[in-house]
Parts: sequence; C-alpha cells; structure tokens
Amino acid sequence: MQRSPIKFCRECGQAVIYRLPDDGDTKPRAICTSCHTVHYENPLNVVGTVPVWGETGDQVLLCLRNIEPRKGKWTLPAGFMELAETTAEGALRETIEEAGAQIEMGELFTLMSVPRVGQVHLYYRARLLSPVFDPGFETVEARLFTEDQIPWDEIAFRTVRETLERYFEDRRQGRFGCHTFDIA
Ligand code: ZN
Repeated sequence: MQRSPIKFCRECGQAVIYRLPDDGDTKPRAICTSCHTVHYENPLNVVGTVPVWGETGDQVLLCLRNIEPRKGKWTLPAGFMELAETTAEGALRETIEEAGAQIEMGELFTLMSVPRVGQVHLYYRARLLSPVFDPGFETVEARLFTEDQIPWDEIAFRTVRETLERYFEDRRQGRFGCHTFDIA
C-alpha cells in the first residue's frame, strides 16, 4: 500500500510543501511553510511468521483476510512493526492478534525489500504449539494447509507467496536458510 503524502506539519499543524531542503539533501522533503521543520519519510517494517504444524512441519497456518487491502485473500500472519518492540516481538504479536495461534518463535527466514511501496518485510519461522486458533477481527478464518492445498492464486501478497515457496523448497532440501532478496 502506497503511503499518502504528508499534508500538515507534525510540530505546528501548518501546511507543508515538498521541496529540496537547503542543506544539500538530494530528495524533496515535506517542509513546513511556517516552522520549517523537515519531515523525513522512511520505509516501514512488516513483520510476520511462517507458523507450521505437524511432526515434519508439512502444514502452514494461513489467515483469510477480513480487511483491506486484499480482503478475501490468504496471508501469513503479519503486520506493521510497532515502536518499542523488536522485529521478533512484532511477528509474535501479529500472529497472536491475527490468528489467535500459540507459537514458539524460530529463526528469521525471509528478509525482503519492497522499494515500490517503501517497506521491508521480515518473516520468522515458528512452530505451532496447538492446531486450535482463535482469529481476531482482521481474520475471517485461520486454517492449516499442506503444500498442495495452498490456494496459490489466492495469496494476498507477493512477499507471502515468495516466503511460502521458499519454506516448502527448504523443507524438501531438509535445511532452512535465511533468504534475503528484493521484490522489484
Ligand atoms: Zn510546522
């Protein structure tokens, strides 16, 4: 989701304009027309998990989205990292909020830059402690899928699809790495 441009100053509430700052910066910034505060905008982190179930981790938990964007599509539990939490804490929190799942956190699995929307997505592997879920309002349904049951054409986000593909590929290889790549 693209972010909207800044319209008003966070310090004084007056209108901002986008222009090059006077300090040699090379990118236009939102600058307050009154107090001249420069508002920098930087990428946001999206953090989530790949929660798996079964002795061999052959089933993955997906959530059917109840909110836009991509309402009615399937996703791994994930969301925007909050201030004052670590990436792993955020991933755990999102998994509890969206799926009501109990998990044991594992290692970082994918780290993807998505420059088009100014985001960085991080997914951790996680082991489900129970196959019973209690999804929150953001999720219509949370359920387990084996690889051949996954609705590949109904996956909400490319980073989720890429992460799922790598999970099952690594599982076939019998070893899990940490995958860092960019989504053009
Ligand atoms: Zn201002």
